[in-house]
Amino acid sequence: MGTMNQSDKNWLVGHFGPHVLFDEPMWRHTTFRIGGPADALITVKTEQEIRAPVVWARDRGHPIMILGAGSNLLVRDGGVRGLVLKLAYDFEAIHLVPRGNGSSAMITAGAAVLVRRLGKYALDQGLAGLNFALGIPGAVGGALIMNAGAWGGCMADSTSSIRVLNRYGDIASMSRGQLRFSYRGLDLEKGTIILSGRFKLKHADREVLRKDAIRMQEKRRLSQPLSLPSAGCVFRNPPGQKAAGELIDRAGLKGLRVGGAEVSTKHANFIVNKGHAKASDVLDLIRRIQETVLERFGVNLELEVTVVGQEAGS
Ligand SMILES: Cc1cc2nc3c(=O)[nH]c(=O)nc-3n(C[C@H](O)[C@H](O)[C@H](O)COP(=O)(O)OP(=O)(O)OC[C@H]3O[C@@H](n4cnc5c(N)ncnc54)[C@H](O)[C@@H]3O)c2cc1C
Repeated sequence: MGTMNQSDKNWLVGHFGPHVLFDEPMWRHTTFRIGGPADALITVKTEQEIRAPVVWARDRGHPIMILGAGSNLLVRDGGVRGLVLKLAYDFEAIHLVPRGNGSSAMITAGAAVLVRRLGKYALDQGLAGLNFALGIPGAVGGALIMNAGAWGGCMADSTSSIRVLNRYGDIASMSRGQLRFSYRGLDLEKGTIILSGRFKLKHADREVLRKDAIRMQEKRRLSQPLSLPSAGCVFRNPPGQKAAGELIDRAGLKGLRVGGAEVSTKHANFIVNKGHAKASDVLDLIRRIQETVLERFGVNLELEVTVVGQEAGS
């Protein structure tokens, strides 16, 4: 792994000017409000612009991480080495594809479009299939990688294709048949960057959709600690078992605290940042939850949250 030196920094400043930030604290870019500094965070505005840093970083041996809305991320306290790429501007475009077969329509959305905006756009067009996304704070790229979902719906259900940039800098389209979605996952070749997604949705009654959306939002408001920083559900629901939150609750762990991190008293599968939590607090809490649930119920809880970066001092 290459260490970023002055000539690397000069190259980045030459290409990205004010859109490169060095030693940028990642807590500013995550919903958890946790995370050490990234060596360099660049904001990429167009598809033309994205190739150069990917190829450059590969040649220079710098790792690349894509940052979506930072809503599924736990960044360790030592921060992220190499380049963090944030997509913006052109990647925030959303439009209706001007064709369809009468009963369905297609929407294309850039990777940086927030899925709640995508869900709202679909709803306003009277298109069903993305209502579940209204309460999810991620962006399209992150939501596709995570196959984000709620209330029985998920991204895989309506995705018809995605556009990607592979690690060699080539842009390609992948059809639904080529995409291996799973529960909270999409298996792509390492280093693949999602540029946009295309979604096939069925026409439906707008009023019915609106009522359904309000119902789901209300359910979320009542069951989740939305006023405190978090990264959503920490653990995947174990197959064939009770939900992870229920197991954690039954183990009596609601309210358990390490430093500034606490198992939410409202939803046991959320860890909330009660103020100045460090990633190490959260990781400590995660270990304690995993140990207790394994001991009590014989269930291994796997992480849904994506943990990145290095420990402090490493
Ligand atoms: C309050 C709250 C509620 C939530 N509720 C739900 C829920 O109901 N259902 C659910 O599934 N999730 C939920 N989440 C979790 C989170 O919102 C989703 O996982 C979301 O899809 C993550 O998207 P993101 O853009 O924030 O990704 P990030 O957190 O920024 O990144 C997640 C991963 O995706 C990668 N990535 C991001 N963009 C790209 C790209 N363009 N190309 C390649 N890789 C990329 C990142 O490198 C990282 O590995 C919730 C989170 C919060 C804070």
